[in-house]
Parts: sequence; C-alpha cells; structure tokens
Amino acid sequence: MKRIPWEGAGELRARASAVLEEHDLSRVRTPLELTERIAQITGKPIVIEKLDDAALVRTTAMWVEYEEYSKVVLRSGDRTYYQLRGLHHEFGHMLFGHPGCEGLLLDEGIQRIAGVGMVRGRVLIAENDLSPLSSNNVHEAEAEALGALLTRLLLRPTYLDDERVFG
Ligand SMILES: [Zn+2]
Repeated sequence: MKRIPWEGAGELRARASAVLEEHDLSRVRTPLELTERIAQITGKPIVIEKLDDAALVRTTAMWVEYEEYSKVVLRSGDRTYYQLRGLHHEFGHMLFGHPGCEGLLLDEGIQRIAGVGMVRGRVLIAENDLSPLSSNNVHEAEAEALGALLTRLLLRPTYLDDERVFG
C-alpha cells in the first residue's frame, strides 16, 4: 500500500535540489558558512541551542521562530551526527518557507521551551499515529529531503580535485 502523499522520492529530491540551486547553496563548504547563508536568505540570525529537556523525548530537533531571530533547539544528549541531521532538517523547513506547526504547541513542554515563538519540529511519529502532526507529512518529507542534501554538501571536499584520485 502506498502511503506517501507526494509523487515519489525522485520528485521530492528534484524539488529539494531546485531549492538548493535557487539559493546557490552548492558552493557552501562549512557548517558556519551554511548557517550564515541561511540566516541571510531567511533574513533572521540563527541561534543554535542544545538542551537536555524531558519535553524533547519525541522531538529530536525544533525550529522556533521569533520576530527577530530563529532558534534551533537540539537535544544535547544526541550524537553529533544525529544533531546535525536534525539541524539540517530544520534548515530545510526554513528554506522551503514552511509555516509553523500548531500541533506541536499543543504540547505543554514544547510550549514552555518555545515561549512566544512559532514552532517546527522534527518529530518521531508512529506510522498509525493520528495526531494533528500527521497532516504535515509533505512538509516533513520536504524538510528531510533538503536536509539530506545539505548534509551531503558539507561532506564534499573543498576542492573537487582532491577526491579525483579515487576515481
Ligand atoms: Zn520537521
């Protein structure tokens, strides 16, 4: 049975690639450069905060948007690569210009962390979970696809010739 609400993984990747191209992000080589470029594109500084909070049991990363800046909350206990995955997923939401997720604000713990901000999160959802978050599947898939491309950008060598010897 087909569950995915978009045409297919290829189509999703193509859309994510188009966003990368639109913002000329393929030249980015370092995490700092990436964060600065996204701040520039979205017009808001980005603050990254690592938290150890029981409210983040199912939310592995969270974007909280305030009027003056964006904050990405990561779980301090997660491995670095996993944190990076969450961070890039949230960058994906920002670049796609996704709206906030009101379902997440129903959670008291999340609301306490976010304050007056608007929230998007990378939430672990069970397949048959009929929570209000399920309707956000397309946005989540888009953010995940773009996040994966962003991670791949940072794994490339500074000069493409550096890897040519392995070809
Ligand atoms: Zn998300």
